[in-house]
Amino acid sequence: MAARIALVAHDAMKDSIVKWAWQNAVMLQGFQLLATGTTGGRINAETGLNPERLLSGPLGGDAQLGAMIAEGNLDALIFFIDPMTAVPHDVDVKSLLRLAILYDTALAVNETSADAILRVLIDKET
Ligand code: PGA
Repeated sequence: MAARIALVAHDAMKDSIVKWAWQNAVMLQGFQLLATGTTGGRINAETGLNPERLLSGPLGGDAQLGAMIAEGNLDALIFFIDPMTAVPHDVDVKSLLRLAILYDTALAVNETSADAILRVLIDKET
């Protein structure tokens, strides 16, 4: 079964994740994609990829992803975190990152690390 990759970006980082997804769309098509609500909507509208959309991050989407990790249902988390702006759901962000670390889930927080994870996942599939 194809690996499950979640795509999440804070508001100021959404342009970046959309650009990254567009640049890697052909490769990403081979995976099961999930995304938090707003990120997923933009990726769908601007790249043609169709990630399964969870709740918006501040409304529980990050918590949904954390639960998926804890239950062994997520292989990689691509999470473009805004390094300059505080978010209202910081506690959810911390929880998600903590669970990704705890369960040794592949975790990327910027373009370079996302590239690296994608390469590893593609190598594993082939
Ligand atoms: P969003 O959530 O994709 O619904 O904006 C992302 C987040 O802020 O965690």
